[in-house]
Amino acid sequence: MGRTKSVGPVGRFGPRYGATPRKRVLAIELKKKGQRCPKCKSLDTLKREAAGIWVCKSCGIKFAGGAYTAQTTLGKTLLPEELKAPKASSTKE
Ligand SMILES: [Zn+2]
Repeated sequence: MGRTKSVGPVGRFGPRYGATPRKRVLAIELKKKGQRCPKCKSLDTLKREAAGIWVCKSCGIKFAGGAYTAQTTLGKTLLPEELKAPKASSTKE
């Protein structure tokens, strides 16, 4: 076997589409792992139904998130109180 470059999940594209689009896809696909459902907290059960629409395979919740990641930094600050982590201290009240 010849040497293979470590290109991660985008290795499946081979030399196609150019380096820059492949790098963008790689960044998105690496973020997919380790995402947690905001309701049942189970790991890697989220499926991207459309841009910004996420469905949990475990509990079936459908919610709005980022286009390619389930939760964005800005989205965290806008979450309803019951979905926020108990440790997160609220600045209101
Ligand atoms: Zn869930």
